[in-house]
Amino acid sequence: MYLEQYDLKKKVAVVTGGGRNIGLACAQALAEAGATVVIAEVDPAVAASGKEALAALGFDADVVQLDVTKPGDVNAAADRIVAEFGRVDILVCNAGIAFNTPAEEMADEEWMKVIDINLNGVFWCCRAFGRHMLASGSGSIINIGSMSGIIANKPQPQSHYNASKAGVHLLTKSLAAEWADRGVRVNAVAPTYIETAMTRRGMDNPEYFPTWLEMTPMHRVGQPPEIASVVLFLACDASSLMTGSVVVVDGGYTCW
Ligand code: NDP
Repeated sequence: MYLEQYDLKKKVAVVTGGGRNIGLACAQALAEAGATVVIAEVDPAVAASGKEALAALGFDADVVQLDVTKPGDVNAAADRIVAEFGRVDILVCNAGIAFNTPAEEMADEEWMKVIDINLNGVFWCCRAFGRHMLASGSGSIINIGSMSGIIANKPQPQSHYNASKAGVHLLTKSLAAEWADRGVRVNAVAPTYIETAMTRRGMDNPEYFPTWLEMTPMHRVGQPPEIASVVLFLACDASSLMTGSVVVVDGGYTCW
C-alpha cells in the first residue's frame, strides 16, 4: 500500500534547470519512479548533457529550451508540453542562481537578475503549468526554496538571494491556499548547502567553508540526491495531505 504511492507511471513531470546538479537528481528520481520527465533548461547544451546522463542510467527524458524569466515562453512551453504529452502532473521549479555581494555595493541589474530568475521565474512557471493542473483537477508543484529563505546566511552577503527564497516560500503557501480545494498541491523544499556548481566557490573559500560546517549540526554539506528524494516524496501520493509546506532539509542548520 505505501510503496505504491511512489509509482509515477503515466505521470508527466517537468523540472526547470533539470540538466545538472539538484535539478538533474530530481529528474532522475522522478524517472526512476516511472514518470515521463521533461528537462526545461535555458541552455540547450546543459539540457542535452542532462538527457545523456539519464540515458546512461537507462532513463529517457525529453528536453525543452526555456528561460524561466520569460512569461510568454513559459506559457508556450506549458501549452506545448500538454499538447505533446496530454497532461502535466508534476512541476519542479528548480532553476536558480546566486551571487555573493554586499548590499551597499550591489548593482541594480544584479538585484533584478536574481529576483527575476529565482522568484519571478517560479511564479511564471507555477502559473503556466498550474493552469493546466487546475483544468485537470490534479497536480503537484515543488518549488526549490532554501534555508536562506529562513535565515540570513553567514558569512557571505547575499541579500537578493535570501529575499528571493523567502519570496518563494510565501508564494508556495499562497498558491497552496488558493489551489488546495482544486486538487493542486504546492510545496517547497528548503535545502542547506548542497555540493553543486553553485556552492563550489564557497566550499573552496577558507573564509566561508569552516563557518558553514561549524554552523551545521551534522558538520557537512548535502548532496543533490538528498534533496531529490524529498522532492520525489512531495511529488507523489505519499504526501497527499501536504500542501503549503516548506520542508527544511538542512542537516540541522536552522536548529541553532
Ligand atoms: P546549478 O547552478 O547547478 O543549477 C541551476 C540550473 O538552473 C542550471 O542548470 C541553470 O542553467 C538553470 N537556470 C539558470 N537560469 C535559468 C533560467 N533563466 N531558465 C531556466 N533555467 C535556468 O544550481 P543548484 O543545482 O545548486 O541549485 C538548484 C536550485 O536549488 C536553485 O534554485 C538553488 O537556489 C537551490 N538551492 C541550492 C543550494 C545549494 O547549496 N546548491 C542550497 C539551497 C537551494 P545554466 O547552467 O545554463 O545557467
